[in-house]
Amino acid sequence: MLFPRAVLPSLLHLTPEWLRARGLKGVILDLDNTLLPYGEEDLPPEFRAWLASLKAEMPLYLLSNALPERFARVQKALGLPGHAPAFKPWFGFRKALKALGLPAKEVAVVGDQVFTDVLGGNLVGAYTVLVPPLREREFFYTRFIRMLETPFRKPWGGTS
Ligand SMILES: [Mg+2]
Repeated sequence: MLFPRAVLPSLLHLTPEWLRARGLKGVILDLDNTLLPYGEEDLPPEFRAWLASLKAEMPLYLLSNALPERFARVQKALGLPGHAPAFKPWFGFRKALKALGLPAKEVAVVGDQVFTDVLGGNLVGAYTVLVPPLREREFFYTRFIRMLETPFRKPWGGTS
């Protein structure tokens, strides 16, 4: 129940082709740390084209445990159906499936957390996909960049 059906290195790998090859016709998407860095409201630039192409190909539904006011703003900006707070993993998934009008086995539940997204999606029999949390990835990326910067953070030839 806690194992995802698939693990992807990034949301960008979740393409219409990938989904169709697995018989999936709709997507229930987590918001925080999956689509947006936690607490933020703007879609990261690298996801803009990806989201537009996926949205054009199949129905998407945002299912989030975020607070309703912030969720409403984000949802409006993204132009996607959805609801929050969903109280995942126990609630929300059946309502999302109903809104998509698809049987659970034809729906991908995509998120960054095992105990909410994966567990909740598995409980309703959907195809669960785990992606790395954006914040953590950002953190590792930042750390990596800092590591690369380290030798250059000294004056030329000096020990500072
Ligand atoms: Mg999340």
